[in-house]
Amino acid sequence: MTDFSSDFTVYRNIPGVDTLVAYRCKTCETKYDTAAEAAKCFAQGWEPQLEPGDIVMPKLELDDRAACYTWISGYGHWATEHTAVKGQKRAFMIHYVVTAVTTAKVLNPHSYPRRGSHEPIYHVATRAFIHNHEPRVRWTSRETHLELVKVQAPHPLVVKEGAKLVGQHATQIL
Ligand SMILES: [Zn+2]
Repeated sequence: MTDFSSDFTVYRNIPGVDTLVAYRCKTCETKYDTAAEAAKCFAQGWEPQLEPGDIVMPKLELDDRAACYTWISGYGHWATEHTAVKGQKRAFMIHYVVTAVTTAKVLNPHSYPRRGSHEPIYHVATRAFIHNHEPRVRWTSRETHLELVKVQAPHPLVVKEGAKLVGQHATQIL
């Protein structure tokens, strides 16, 4: 049997001292009672599809009103008009910059309670919505919430302004 304990031990035994021993996945930092459980969690891997600095927008089907906004409160170059929505005068697709990619551990446990999840959480920001001089920052996940797709040929100003937003973490879901 492979001994994973040196890789995953959180608290090491000190001779003569009763020490709590736990095992922690190095990706999601979930703690387990056994090294084998931690190793199994780690073996799920970590494969984000996007990286900080990418300019993205929610994936949508044509004529999908739910994914569009009828107004913006910030800068127009952070959105494109989506003409396929019927019965609406204007509909905007909001562009976002990926500001961070993390595991779910950084989120409010009440909003995302699954232990041991290796699903990448994408933190995104947009200057299409400005509130108290701050851009809107939200998070999403591909598997369980809104999927994101890269914007083809994003506006050069979005790339430039977006680079300055990299590093921000969201607390609210997109
Ligand atoms: Zn894990």
